[in-house]
Amino acid sequence: MTNQSMVISDTQSGLAMAMAVARSDPALFSSAVPKPLISPNGYFSGKKVLIKLESFGNGARINGLLDSMRASSPTRRSPDSEDQNSWTLHHPSALSMFEEIMKASEGKQIAVFLDYDGTLSPIVDDPDRAFMTNEMRDAVKDVAKYFPTAIVSGRCRTKVYNFVKLSELYYAGSHGMDIKGPAKGHRKGNQTVLCQPAREFLPMIDEVYKALTEKVKYIPGALVENNKFCLSVHYRCVEEKRWGELADEVKSVIKDYQQLRLSQGRKVLEIRPTIKWDKGDALEFLLESLGFAESSNVLPVYIGDDRTDEDAFKVLRKREQGIGILVSKVPKETSASYTLQEPLEVMQFLKRLVEWKKMSLSLLRHLESCRG
Ligand SMILES: [Mg+2]
Repeated sequence: MTNQSMVISDTQSGLAMAMAVARSDPALFSSAVPKPLISPNGYFSGKKVLIKLESFGNGARINGLLDSMRASSPTRRSPDSEDQNSWTLHHPSALSMFEEIMKASEGKQIAVFLDYDGTLSPIVDDPDRAFMTNEMRDAVKDVAKYFPTAIVSGRCRTKVYNFVKLSELYYAGSHGMDIKGPAKGHRKGNQTVLCQPAREFLPMIDEVYKALTEKVKYIPGALVENNKFCLSVHYRCVEEKRWGELADEVKSVIKDYQQLRLSQGRKVLEIRPTIKWDKGDALEFLLESLGFAESSNVLPVYIGDDRTDEDAFKVLRKREQGIGILVSKVPKETSASYTLQEPLEVMQFLKRLVEWKKMSLSLLRHLESCRG
């Protein structure tokens, strides 16, 4: 086993344990927390809980990948109402705070970044059937009429494109390692490659895909998905008593590949190149491509549900710019500022964003006609 493969899973286990410790100590969720504030740059400043949780995460370790898989299982979480209320206080609903968020966008160009699975589509047992609704597609299409819009997914870019089917968007597949921009005239299948920083890893990824598929085929429910620049081993449909076997098989394959690393998402193990490139880098790359590299005139809005989206939320915190929105019904360690409970609420938020823009434009036109 490589050190790299365990560093990530152990760190994430530590965070999960920190969350458990914090839940057992109500003092960590102090009720004397001020109402969330939004700074002029749109950055949410309520970081108190996050800082305390991180201080526990540094020392806390759970043994190995299997414990990490168990700790991240949403079905094991049953937060009491006090935890839930405290979490909601620190990470309020993006719908209830909508007006405040829009105030932060004054004079700035909003750019929208959307994860796919669990954000635009429901999480389903068969990843090939994670379809978004037509209503959601229409909402995303409308958003893209007014704001630069990108899908940022762990999936293979072509696969996520086939789910979304909107050629006017940017697509960052394979956790941002495969980025294409809108086609000229928005012609289907004619998008422009912007960035593929892990091209040299393609033969290796294919080789590991074949090896992993062979290794886990005897474990019912295990599914290896080839996302071109990275691989996903889904265990949503694997009996929990066999998760240990699955973890061992995955580790036995990747131990020979020092250039690959293992991380974890929602009921999925992710294998990707060790290059420093994640959804956070993809977000920065896309902002740069849109001409907002060092600009203060942009308000990125990033919505995602997964651990891998945390890299993007962290970039927003580092830039002190933008709105990170986590999609989750339960308390989770996160660098996002706001929450939405499920894809249905994401759709409501997107529709509201469009309505707000239409009203702003109509008001502007009215004012201009009055001046004229
Ligand atoms: Mg997701």
